[in-house]
Amino acid sequence: MEDTEIYNKLSIINVKNKLNLEERYAKGDNIYVTCPFCYEGNQSNMKLNVTNDSYYCRMCGESGFAIGLYAKIKYINNKVAYKRLIQEEAEMQTELKEIRKSVRKQDEEISLVYEYFLKMLGLNKKHYNMLQELGFSKEDIVKYSFKSIPQRENEKTEICNKLIKSGFDLQGIPRILS
Ligand SMILES: [Zn+2]
Repeated sequence: MEDTEIYNKLSIINVKNKLNLEERYAKGDNIYVTCPFCYEGNQSNMKLNVTNDSYYCRMCGESGFAIGLYAKIKYINNKVAYKRLIQEEAEMQTELKEIRKSVRKQDEEISLVYEYFLKMLGLNKKHYNMLQELGFSKEDIVKYSFKSIPQRENEKTEICNKLIKSGFDLQGIPRILS
């Protein structure tokens, strides 16, 4: 199974659809649904965060993550919930997609951020050697401006901080460092 397939199956969006939670509106990377835990007639909006797959209702205080939400509503434990979600096809349809697009920055701005981002990266020795082994010449390596993507969390944070300090608003910029 592909990583994205697994991710989709365990995502809050899939869980929302499997549970037929009523979408109310979306804002940024949050989608608000009618809270299934609040008393009927007094239902608040439960916030589903599609970035970290969490849920939270301010009214009743219920909170947690996608698998837990599925488990709780189906009266099963997390392990069973996980198995069931993994076995079934993911249902990823949501109005949120449009909303996400609208918070996404214009392509021009995105490419500018990426350009700066790439400038901040170097190419480490290991990757340089790998490229040469693959048959890229020294000139090719410069021409295609190959870069090494940092692996450590603190390196990633540092780069984001530098970009923010350079005046970039990273809200709405898709993440390429996961
Ligand atoms: Zn609630």
